[in-house]
Amino acid sequence: MELKPNQVRLMMLQVADAIIAAEPMLSQADRDLGDGDHGLGMKRGMEAVKAQLEPMDPATVEQVFVATGTAMMTSMGGASGALFGTVYRAGGKALAGRPSFNAEALSLLLTAALEGVMKRGGAKPGDKTMIDALAPAAEKARESTALSLTEALTAVAAAAESGKEASKAMIAQFGRAKTLGEACLGFPDAGACSVVVMLNTMRDFVLA
Ligand code: ADP
Ligand code: MG
Repeated sequence: MELKPNQVRLMMLQVADAIIAAEPMLSQADRDLGDGDHGLGMKRGMEAVKAQLEPMDPATVEQVFVATGTAMMTSMGGASGALFGTVYRAGGKALAGRPSFNAEALSLLLTAALEGVMKRGGAKPGDKTMIDALAPAAEKARESTALSLTEALTAVAAAAESGKEASKAMIAQFGRAKTLGEACLGFPDAGACSVVVMLNTMRDFVLA
């Protein structure tokens, strides 16, 4: 299965709706470790994404992901707006010239997204950030390029979920949770929770 640009647009609209619906869970995750604004920030970002993508007639898959990232970056503000904006802008640019989205494109998207976020934010795996969901997802995607997109997204979403679960045992080195020290233990990182919602929704879109 390969998704054409318009199907990628529909998939990202479904991701936007899923993040908006997950706002209470994401807010709670950030209240446990941070300042509690992550859910509302992501919701605002995804409302901007919907406004961009709803009227769009995309010619390329790159265009859909770059528009998603730009909408998040310009509407959310703060560290996570720049970081989630980078996920989709850097990821999308890695797909330049590709006519469709398949397992190989998923691998390129996630690898470039991870590199972009690490470069922009300076965090690395183990620091209890979104990177702890994104890095295992990107690694699984690189192992899954010969699979169907459905199989690859199923494996990748499961890897992100495991990474989010593993973040419970990490002590934050970035963001507001940094001051908490061992009080972080037992709670997953909020940004990692967002990554899981996004990848689960992409999986559900291709399974439907
Ligand atoms: P803020 O930290 O400004 O309150 P949010 O609450 O929206 O922004 O987002 C917090 C999330 O951002 C964290 O849960 C973490 O996943 C992510 N994050 C924060 N700093 C970094 C960083 N340097 N690199 C990667 N992700 C980060
Ligand atoms: Mg916050």
